[in-house]
Amino acid sequence: MCTGDIEDAPGLDSLWKYTAEVRDGKIFVTAPEKEVKAKVGRVIARPRAPLAATLKEKVVIVGGGSGGIHTIESLREHNFAGDIVLISQEDYAPIDRYENCKHYWVADARTKLSKALQDDPTKVEWRKPAELKDDFGVELHLATTVSAIDTAAQTVTIPSGQIKYDHLVLSPGATPRRIPIPGADLPGVVTIRTPHDVKKVTEALGPNTDIIVIGTSFIGLEATGALTKKEKKSLTVVGVDPVPFEAMLGRDLGKAIQKSYEDQGVTFHMDTQIEKITAGPDGKAAQLHIKGKDPLPASLVIMGTGVAPATSFLKDSSSFTLERDGGITVDEYLRVPGAKNVYAIGDIAHYPQFPDGNPRRVEHWNVAGNHGRHVAATIAGTPKPYKGVPIFWSSIGKGLRYVGTGAGFDDTYLDGSITDLKFVLYQAKGGKITAVASMGRDPYVSKSSELLKLGKMPTLDEIKVGKVSNWGGQG
Ligand SMILES: Cc1cc2nc3c(=O)[nH]c(=O)nc-3n(C[C@H](O)[C@H](O)[C@H](O)COP(=O)(O)OP(=O)(O)OC[C@H]3O[C@@H](n4cnc5c(N)ncnc54)[C@H](O)[C@@H]3O)c2cc1C
Repeated sequence: MCTGDIEDAPGLDSLWKYTAEVRDGKIFVTAPEKEVKAKVGRVIARPRAPLAATLKEKVVIVGGGSGGIHTIESLREHNFAGDIVLISQEDYAPIDRYENCKHYWVADARTKLSKALQDDPTKVEWRKPAELKDDFGVELHLATTVSAIDTAAQTVTIPSGQIKYDHLVLSPGATPRRIPIPGADLPGVVTIRTPHDVKKVTEALGPNTDIIVIGTSFIGLEATGALTKKEKKSLTVVGVDPVPFEAMLGRDLGKAIQKSYEDQGVTFHMDTQIEKITAGPDGKAAQLHIKGKDPLPASLVIMGTGVAPATSFLKDSSSFTLERDGGITVDEYLRVPGAKNVYAIGDIAHYPQFPDGNPRRVEHWNVAGNHGRHVAATIAGTPKPYKGVPIFWSSIGKGLRYVGTGAGFDDTYLDGSITDLKFVLYQAKGGKITAVASMGRDPYVSKSSELLKLGKMPTLDEIKVGKVSNWGGQG
């Protein structure tokens, strides 16, 4: 409120700050017209302070995604004056997978890749490469893969040689998994992680395209939602669970989401055993085979079947112990134990989750961004343990908001109607709220997020008797 500065991911730009004064019982705000009309808020980048203690240090960031961009911006926000090097496999600057979340709050954000099938990275770069270089003083290595790290020598290996670091931030994200069935690598079978992947989808669309989406979690169903509005012959979703999202959101909500898609012409085959994908005479995917059913026509198959931490380049380094899923366990400052000045954040990090401290690995845009903000503060000399509660949004039929500590639940309370997809759903364990999901009922989830972080969330019993109305929200 005092500075307009950003406090939390996902946005990067702050609010404009203006002088306000009260005259004759009226509030007058003085603001330059140009700024008021500009869409973009104040950019935080500050000139590098020549006398700062960090002037001679170098931070190397591996990964130009959510964790990477937030680390950069937050380092400069915290007056880090040294060098910043960003190395990214992708051939464009960090992108906004969620349209508009750079400038607005979550309620207005829409994922561009899976939610809108955006296939042009230049339209969604957070900052242009020139801005990163000139305003933030970043040395950019795009389309560059890190192949090894030596924590004793403090070096990162890229094709052109080695880069020395004083602090290393690992944020390489995750790699989409293909289910191991015959035909999984045929032309016409795709996964979605980058705009180049999306291009393969948009180029395959047409009046004769039979689309199969395998997987009923977020990426699969978001892509399905976007594809309902595109040209095609048929759109079919194939899942191995009985109902989409059952474990996370419960059976009733899962069924309601499925129905909302069916109402838009999508066919579902759930509880299936997927056997193989076979090719047509042109060598491209043509049919998907499910046990006990006739083969389904499949000229485009999208696998939304999960991701694995992109840590294969660390396998040979004795300084890193990879967990079974390929992730890395870190402490509450997101430091890799035993490796000096090395941090692991975002999709690869198993971090102690507030409030119970149990290790969790979370694949959310916001978590990676806030991890980046935290390690930047630590590197710049103001260390803070990470205490965020994961929050995300999705577009599955309708906008879904979700905040949760991942501790599971043994009781729930529903306020609203699941059938109409207009509700707030509270999940609790031992009476304490562990997660809140909503559709069409903002801003319950964002307020719950803040209350969970502050340890001030009402109990399930209190919410049931209406305590909810004491802390705001609509109705
Ligand atoms: C299509 C899609 C939709 C999604 N929708 C949502 C959503 O609605 N809400 C939500 O909360 N989350 C969503 N997610 C998840 C979210 O994008 C990730 O959790 C988040 O991006 C993780 O941030 P990160 O920094 O860990 O990794 P990323 O953002 O993936 O960035 C990793 C970067 O590291 C690079 N890299 C990897 N290995 C190397 C290497 N060896 N050398 C150099 N560079 C390397 C990659 O190329 C990439 O640039 C979605 C993900 C996808 C793919």
